[in-house]
Amino acid sequence: MSRGPGLPIVDGATPAPGSDPARVRADDAMVDGFGRRIEYLRISVTDKCNLRCVYCMPMEGLPWIPKAQLLSWEEIRDVVGEMAPMGLRRVRITGGEPLVRRDVDTLVRFLRDVPGIEDISLSTNAVLLADQADALADAGLDRVNVSLDSLRDDRMEAIARRSGVAARIRAGLEAAERVGFQPLKLNVVLMRGRNDDEIEDFARLTVDRPWHVRFIEVMPTGANLDVSRDEQLTCDEALERISAIDALEPVEGPTGNGPARYWRFPGAAGSIGVITPMSHTFCDRCNRMRLTADGQLRPCLFGDLQTDLRGPLRRGEDLRPLIERTLRIKPERHLLEQGTDAGSGGLAALSQTGG
Ligand code: SAM
Ligand code: SF4
Repeated sequence: MSRGPGLPIVDGATPAPGSDPARVRADDAMVDGFGRRIEYLRISVTDKCNLRCVYCMPMEGLPWIPKAQLLSWEEIRDVVGEMAPMGLRRVRITGGEPLVRRDVDTLVRFLRDVPGIEDISLSTNAVLLADQADALADAGLDRVNVSLDSLRDDRMEAIARRSGVAARIRAGLEAAERVGFQPLKLNVVLMRGRNDDEIEDFARLTVDRPWHVRFIEVMPTGANLDVSRDEQLTCDEALERISAIDALEPVEGPTGNGPARYWRFPGAAGSIGVITPMSHTFCDRCNRMRLTADGQLRPCLFGDLQTDLRGPLRRGEDLRPLIERTLRIKPERHLLEQGTDAGSGGLAALSQTGG
């Protein structure tokens, strides 16, 4: 097998089916067996959450990761510090709800100091954002994505299955604007019968506000198979309805080019994006890996493939061969369209891997 220059052979990793192991590189660029360049890491800092969104976490919660198994801020910095010279450029802090863990600003400060990291973002439900926005901005956070599935307080709380949070979410959004987190992206998970009558309202928001509203197709996980089966709605349908308001022009996305495709109303301040894991997979453009809160490096959101970094990190071992192994096993695509637990690799909820 031919390999990247000067790298040791790592045993125990069967290359992803259909991949070409000769393409895998892990020197100054991370390239997988399908030639995809990996430059983005989503870092989950906790699997816990203060909400119970109907499409995500079950009401009773999940078996939480024991505290001793959570990577410390220093350990996360060390992983990012290892990957940055290998081509990592952008990181996103996520969860669970990242802001339920104390002192996330300390992690942001650490990551800001890693040479090569150009963009640090955070995904949040915004419930705790008003309290923490200043500290996060001071630490060097560039921007936030806020999950907002309804513009109506009662609905927002019904979807989140937590009463009394809507005012705090709105305060969080205001704080994000006040401290200048830009571009501000809103994530809206589409659910037929629950929030689809607000598609046009969300789209109109982008006319005057520089917000990037992204509609996301609900993905099936073990905890939400009923919602993902019965309430599925494609982004194509959402776009068709939005086009009836006014012509949409395709545009380049805002900073942080991920799987979303974007459009804009003529002259609008913001844009409308769609993330279509169900109807059009974007796996061929995948540029990311994921680090779970307990230190597993995952090559794909779904499936059971992962490489333990926590043990080796705590034993002072070299992480680079393990990162190369993860590149080698990165699959070509997910199998979500099956709409079953098997398709999602038995994952109970996206809160476990950071979404
Ligand atoms: N708690 C934070 C939040 O809600 O933004 C970060 C973690 S959450 C798992 C990350 C993103 O995944 C959110 O935008 C959320 O709406 C989305 N998400 C969670 N479960 C999903 C599912 N089953 N299908 C589609 N998107 C999902
Ligand atoms: Fe929590 Fe985010 Fe999952 Fe909602 S989507 S339950 S806010 S982790």
